[in-house]
Amino acid sequence: MKPVTKEQLAGLASLVGATREQEINCSECAVFAAEFAERQLAGLPLDETLAKVEDHLAVCPECREEMLLLRRVLESGN
Ligand SMILES: [Zn+2]
Repeated sequence: MKPVTKEQLAGLASLVGATREQEINCSECAVFAAEFAERQLAGLPLDETLAKVEDHLAVCPECREEMLLLRRVLESGN
């Protein structure tokens, strides 16, 4: 069996990177949070980016908390 080459390792790393790229981080979530909350309140469908926000909220309690606060502000503004 041949040893793993640097090229193979780089290939693996980029595969992992590609999977991670599809998820958004907290600061990206914050950028789209207002639009996400407005759409949800209006009952509008989520686009691909906002679906990622939803995915992030499912795994990130901090952003979920931010979203709750944001929704409270939006709801009280009506
Ligand atoms: Zn987050």
